[in-house]
Amino acid sequence: MLLRVPYYYENFFCQASKCKHSCCVGWEIDVDKEKEKYYKSVPGSFGERLRREMTEDDKFRLKGERCAFLNEENLCDIFIALGEDALCETCSEYPRFCIRYGNIMERGLGLSCEEAARLLFLEDVPFSLVEKEVEEPEEEEMPVEEKYQKNCVGVEQARDYAIRILQDRTKSLEERMVIYLFFAKAVQECLNYNKPEKIASLIETWNPEDANKLEKNCDCLEAFYERVASYEQFEDVNAEWKETLAVTKAFIKEHAKNEKEYAGLHKEFRAYYESRIFEWEQILIYFTYRHFMWSIEDSRFFNRAQYAVSSFLMIRDMDMVRFFLNGKEYTKADRIDVARIYSTEIEHSEENVEMLAEDFDFEEVYSLQNLCEQVLL
Ligand code: SF4
Repeated sequence: MLLRVPYYYENFFCQASKCKHSCCVGWEIDVDKEKEKYYKSVPGSFGERLRREMTEDDKFRLKGERCAFLNEENLCDIFIALGEDALCETCSEYPRFCIRYGNIMERGLGLSCEEAARLLFLEDVPFSLVEKEVEEPEEEEMPVEEKYQKNCVGVEQARDYAIRILQDRTKSLEERMVIYLFFAKAVQECLNYNKPEKIASLIETWNPEDANKLEKNCDCLEAFYERVASYEQFEDVNAEWKETLAVTKAFIKEHAKNEKEYAGLHKEFRAYYESRIFEWEQILIYFTYRHFMWSIEDSRFFNRAQYAVSSFLMIRDMDMVRFFLNGKEYTKADRIDVARIYSTEIEHSEENVEMLAEDFDFEEVYSLQNLCEQVLL
């Protein structure tokens, strides 16, 4: 089968004790059935500790915020005592994500890991995918159900074309995003009519000029507060997120009394950030690569474009506020941090993703028109 990964995938190594925001802090780790059985069979005092530190619903206990097996040197005691193969699936897979459809397996690295984020933003290299033939995995890794396979070709073509739109640097990033949204809406029409085979001809005849028909419809400052209200409903995955969102909201409330002032703050940050716009491009492509192929199953292609753009808008707000709070500076560490905080909160909670997806369907602030206006600000 064909394995497809981002160009930097093979460069990833867990930073373990050197990691500042270890994934073993702040999260409850679910133990899979196979490893639960194994942990229950480990003999001796370490076996007893394993059983003691697992909850009845098969999670590792937390000591404060830390996994019970994370030692003082920030190393994993299970890894040390029993070796890498003894790690449960969550620990051995993280931060990797995976989707499998047909004879293709796509893997990537989630932005909630600071090392994965560092690699994504390392240099201004256009995002690309590397492919190689691999053995079929013994265990099926999240295959898309057979009955949805007919959508694979069309959705994959549309996803790849959406990435190409985002990479067209003859246009500003904001213009590209508007075209990207319009294109995703057109793909959605094909899927709504159960005609995924029409996506190829849509791409052939696609005219980006169609995306230029926009009239003023929304107040972007009000839209900011509406987006914040959506994101405030989330279950708390991490405290950093709550604080970052609150600081962002408070700063904008204090410094932007109207849409013009809000746009002015963004304009100043945008000018400062101009030479690093590729970082935003990478973020958008990351969301596109990671999530769009799941439209094979549920046909929610446009919903995922809304997700990518809404995520961009929230991240852009948080970036801008951090820039001003830093005394008009925004470092690479800030870039990694904001992306990590966002991804940790949103991408690790099915409940949060589902709540957002519903808002995208029903709230005016996420309509095609309103998202485009907010992007262009
Ligand atoms: S967040 Fe990433 S680098 Fe840090 S401990 Fe987890 S996998 Fe390793």
